[in-house]
Amino acid sequence: MGLEALLTHPRHALVGFDYDGTLAPIVDDPAQARPEAGVVDALSALSQRVGTVAIVTGRPADQAAALGRFGSAAGLGDLVIVGHYGAQRWHAGDLTTIEMPGGLPAVREQLPRLLDGLKLGDVDIEDKGLSLAVHVRRLPHAQRALDTIRGPLAKLAAEHGLVTEQGRLVVEIRGPGIDKGHALEALVREFGARAVVFVGDDLGDLAAYDAVDRLRGEGIGGLLVCSASDEVEELARRADVVVAGPPGVLRFSRELASLLDG
Ligand SMILES: [Mg+2]
Repeated sequence: MGLEALLTHPRHALVGFDYDGTLAPIVDDPAQARPEAGVVDALSALSQRVGTVAIVTGRPADQAAALGRFGSAAGLGDLVIVGHYGAQRWHAGDLTTIEMPGGLPAVREQLPRLLDGLKLGDVDIEDKGLSLAVHVRRLPHAQRALDTIRGPLAKLAAEHGLVTEQGRLVVEIRGPGIDKGHALEALVREFGARAVVFVGDDLGDLAAYDAVDRLRGEGIGGLLVCSASDEVEELARRADVVVAGPPGVLRFSRELASLLDG
């Protein structure tokens, strides 16, 4: 079992967290998504007790670092933040980025006109540099708006060699072949982890769940944790542990740290 493997080999364990909806509550303005109070201390406590603590997010890695103020946090010097689903890495203040997906500038230019044509009202475009996120959370009929934009955005993305990823009242356009599963697996290989825990809340985290399943097939201990919400059901069905949103993730992290002391 994953928990047993982690408790047996804590120095060879990797604990990975998604950011939004997992460490930080979802808020209307993604630029204001701060970690749940106490998260930084909890990650720091875990970081002293396991081999590697990582954040794997769709955000730019340096943006997640800034929002969480992780760079200046005591005891988090080893924290690794993988951003843009794996296209970017932040560690100890250093940011490494791959090249921008080729079709992105054209999509960036055409996207506002396409959204205007759909006449949905105030859709938020979040330009993440290596990807574009279209948020409908602030619209009065957000779920219906999401259904309306999904198809046209997928078509626009495909025309420029890009792909879409749906999240909680958001559709993101980004480069192909990059997902949280490949990102997590790469971290496990790099750090030689013999146990891996992954905590996520959204559809983009399913790729990381798949990676943990693949790694289990190789004898690596895996533990899947779901930060549950009433917006997404798919992860709770597959998880070993289901907790209630970021406050539940915080409690889980603290309990994990105390188990490692026991
Ligand atoms: Mg999330």
